[in-house]
Amino acid sequence: MRCPFCQAHDTRVVDSRLAAEGDQVRRRRECVACGERFTTYESAELVMPRVVKRDGTRVLFDEHRLRTGMMRALEKRPVATPAVEASLARIRQNIQALGEGEVPASQIGEWVMEELRELDQVAYVRFASVYRSFEDVSAFREVIEGLEGRTASSGESGESR
Ligand SMILES: [Zn+2]
Repeated sequence: MRCPFCQAHDTRVVDSRLAAEGDQVRRRRECVACGERFTTYESAELVMPRVVKRDGTRVLFDEHRLRTGMMRALEKRPVATPAVEASLARIRQNIQALGEGEVPASQIGEWVMEELRELDQVAYVRFASVYRSFEDVSAFREVIEGLEGRTASSGESGESR
């Protein structure tokens, strides 16, 4: 992104948020060379950060894969498609609202788990068991205890904390 004041190439994002309609990202940038600040509106689909996998490789964000993973966890569960779409939209917005650059795959995984925990607890445990691969027993216990804690504190209403 070129600075409109001095044409330098090196600018820094100081703030990044979705514009009201959600299909654009509004960014405040600061020129590293002259220090001037300016605002850009960037198409949300063009600013998807790359995903940093656990082994350090970078891949393009793949919404289809994200959707497939969530759908697999939700298979045969009583969750309406619009609710799943709303969850996917929230995850996408979380990603887009980040500064430019990269997002760790683990962060996306955490967002997916947050959404699934709200949608359906069976799906949540399914996803968590694959995602965290439950290398150790304590990780699994953590997930289950997390659910029990929620159930005890929120009662039948299903409200979040
Ligand atoms: Zn400049």
